[in-house]
Amino acid sequence: MSEEAPSYRAELVGVFGHPVAENPTIIMQEEGFKALGLNWRYLTIEVRPEQLADAIRGLRAFNMAGINLTIPHKVAVLPFLDDLSPEAELVGAVNTVVREGDRLVGHNTDGKGFVRSVREEAGVDPRGKHIVLLGAGGAARAISVEMALAGAGHITIVNRTPERGQDLVRLLRAKTPAGAEFAPWRGKYVVPAGADILVNATSLGLYPNVKSAPLVALGSIRPDLLVCDVIPNPPHTAFLRTAEARGARTLDGLGMLVTQSAIAFEMWTGHEAPVAVMRQALEKVFGTP
Ligand code: NDP
Repeated sequence: MSEEAPSYRAELVGVFGHPVAENPTIIMQEEGFKALGLNWRYLTIEVRPEQLADAIRGLRAFNMAGINLTIPHKVAVLPFLDDLSPEAELVGAVNTVVREGDRLVGHNTDGKGFVRSVREEAGVDPRGKHIVLLGAGGAARAISVEMALAGAGHITIVNRTPERGQDLVRLLRAKTPAGAEFAPWRGKYVVPAGADILVNATSLGLYPNVKSAPLVALGSIRPDLLVCDVIPNPPHTAFLRTAEARGARTLDGLGMLVTQSAIAFEMWTGHEAPVAVMRQALEKVFGTP
């Protein structure tokens, strides 16, 4: 009777960032691998900006299955990749690299994570909806592009710095089927009457600045609005609490964080991600029930 030779070689994935020590993705990914009995490891790797090229060469040399990228590498990595998904090309930033043979292909799962979270957790189909996005940074860019590709009817971008907001509107108009407009943010923003989904995609409310929230006129937050926040920590932000007090339904940023990670898990391993296990692992870290 012949026995198969044991393999002590694990498949490797991970994240490059700077600083990266507090990035909690390892917790979700490793719990996911364990739950599925996969011999995979997720490494949290500090990579200084001037060493990104070497780090990518190392990834190729170690035959790693892929990598996540976080601040400050999401845009800087583009020249080192062999190909980009159409969404990553539109967003102009990559948070997940998948090795396909010898080729490194860049994807962006942030916006996809948001769309899946809206569909599956809030039970809302973005098709034909009017979405108001507060913010025009990396998260807003990824979310608006994916919502547009998912069939959103109209997207209003509201941003403190008009040029950045107008840039994003130009991109959406030129490259996606959605209608888009820029709205200036002076004082309290009044949510238009026809809006279906309101998203805080700014960094306001992120730990440790838990009391800060985007300035929105309270009276314009209606019970039929779905109000979302991208801030994963704390998930129950001051902004969401205000929206709940107005009777609106809410969706927290933890769902987006888990889902974008689950999509990377699926791209790398080819297995359906154990999303509930991954979310629980993260909630434990953030100290939420
Ligand atoms: P960026 O730095 O690219 O953009 C920040 C955005 O916030 C800009 O629109 C900026 O406006 C706005 N902003 C910052 N401070 C203020 C303020 N005081 N008043 C009004 N607007 C303000 O960051 P990202 O887009 O990459 O990230 C934004 C947030 O999204 C982060 O907190 C991050 O944690 C979260 N995120 C969550 C993810 C998830 O999976 N849940 C995934 C990715 C990000 P301006 O252009 O005027 O500077």
